Amino acid sequence: MTAILGAGISGLSAAYYALENPKIGPLVILEASNRVGGWIHSIKQPDGTIFEKGPRVIRANSHNLLDLIEKLNLSTKVIPIKSNHPAAKNRYIYADNVLHCLPNSLKGIMTKNTLLNRSLSSVIWNDLNAIKVSKDDESIYSFIERRFGKDVSEKMIAPILCGICGGDIQKLSAKSFMTSLFEAEQNYGSVIKGLLQQKLLNTLNKKKEKQFKSKISDDTQKAVKSNNMPSHLVERAKKESWRIWGLQGGFEQLPQALTKNITERGVNIKMKHNCEQLIFNKDNVELIVNGTAEKYSRVISSLPAKSLANLVKEQHPELSKELSSIPTVTIAIVNLQFSENVLPVTAFGVLIPPKEEIPILGVIFDSCALPQNSKMTVLTVMMGGAWFEKYFGDCSSEKHLRSIAIKYVNEILCINEDPKACNVSILKDCIPQYVIGHAERLTRIHNYISEHKIPLGLCGSSYHAVGVSDVILSAKEAVSSINQCIL
Ligand SMILES: Cc1cc2nc3c(=O)[nH]c(=O)nc-3n(C[C@H](O)[C@H](O)[C@H](O)COP(=O)(O)OP(=O)(O)OC[C@H]3O[C@@H](n4cnc5c(N)ncnc54)[C@H](O)[C@@H]3O)c2cc1C
Repeated sequence: MTAILGAGISGLSAAYYALENPKIGPLVILEASNRVGGWIHSIKQPDGTIFEKGPRVIRANSHNLLDLIEKLNLSTKVIPIKSNHPAAKNRYIYADNVLHCLPNSLKGIMTKNTLLNRSLSSVIWNDLNAIKVSKDDESIYSFIERRFGKDVSEKMIAPILCGICGGDIQKLSAKSFMTSLFEAEQNYGSVIKGLLQQKLLNTLNKKKEKQFKSKISDDTQKAVKSNNMPSHLVERAKKESWRIWGLQGGFEQLPQALTKNITERGVNIKMKHNCEQLIFNKDNVELIVNGTAEKYSRVISSLPAKSLANLVKEQHPELSKELSSIPTVTIAIVNLQFSENVLPVTAFGVLIPPKEEIPILGVIFDSCALPQNSKMTVLTVMMGGAWFEKYFGDCSSEKHLRSIAIKYVNEILCINEDPKACNVSILKDCIPQYVIGHAERLTRIHNYISEHKIPLGLCGSSYHAVGVSDVILSAKEAVSSINQCIL
């Protein structure tokens, strides 16, 4: 019997993929809280409006997730946002008391933009002329400053990272967060040259693949094609050039559909079952759950690394130390609903560089990307992250967070109306931070587990990437690594 820790999206996905392999045996998911979905949480207002506390949109190139959506019969609920939609094209940065639209066309790249007071082509020129510095890892701030300039680091990349993970680019790892850009410099001496080389290599590989296919028989081609057949949704996303997509009726429908699917196929989800300790014995794994011992053959953990660290501390202090060194940040979310269309611009949203010293990370224009009713406006104000303590350490009451959100929505977007509805949530330790040295830490964690032959698979947002589709892929990989242990 296999135990999966956590019924967030990665724990549920691990069960989904484990069901494909009967050798893994019966599956039990242990979930500490009284709901599935983890950070995926849609709240329905009395008038039917949806407020999202967590994720709401997914990149359209996440084919694994589109495949899953189709298999879970959620295709009709998908709201595609195509590349020409304002929510796909327009992203604003608020700096020096002005809203600046990030360049989104060739003309925008070539001409001087108001945010940097220079053109993006001059930023590219910077990189082509900067000398290569060999590094194992460094902060995103220092990497971008060296290659493209301090202005790009502070005004463009810092706010984008606030939007992705609420993180401080002075601490985040360039190697883990910008792997292809970082490797481009290390391998080719320049980010732009490296990316162009990579593109050329990909084109050559595709050409070779085409030539190879033309030599094999029609029957073999058909067999290969049917094995790797992309879903209708993936084909549609490519054909209609989707950029991002969301789910009509709230993103929480994904974990709900997944729960229905796996429970109907025999997975036992035990709610309010808090795993407190893991003891790896010679022939089994003992789990202390709500104070009682339960025995399993193997474990897949989808818990944040810091939580897992506590469970293995007694038996594997070295592993525990590595896991507990992956920090997290807390984010406050304030969802606001206005009766009218009150937005001055149509866009995905606005982000604020930390250098501006404004206590919010950014505002997502939900009703622009995923309209629920043509008239009203729904916004999500994100606050805190790496600066939660600095701005809200002394006072993080709901009333205070609400008043800060309304104050800055007024100041930045000139919205003077009172919101019709509001919801405040503090998401404690919700986003892991891949700080400098993260990649090496992951290698040490994986080496420790395999050297000690511990029947433990890891998935979730603490390790390789934080996006929903990434953590689903991490679950698929954890299942396959556990599977190899069985073989
Ligand atoms: C505000 C916010 C906005 C985001 N927006 C986006 C977005 O737009 N697009 C995108 O792709 N991604 C987004 N993300 C990222 C994405 O939502 C997360 O990375 C993902 O949901 C993490 O899922 P998970 O299953 O790995 O972890 P979690 O959701 O943390 O699930 C872990 C589960 O384990 C349970 N648990 C913890 N400890 C124990 C224990 N000891 N025993 C048993 N159970 C335990 C928890 O209760 C929880 O249910 C966002 C995240 C946040 C916080």
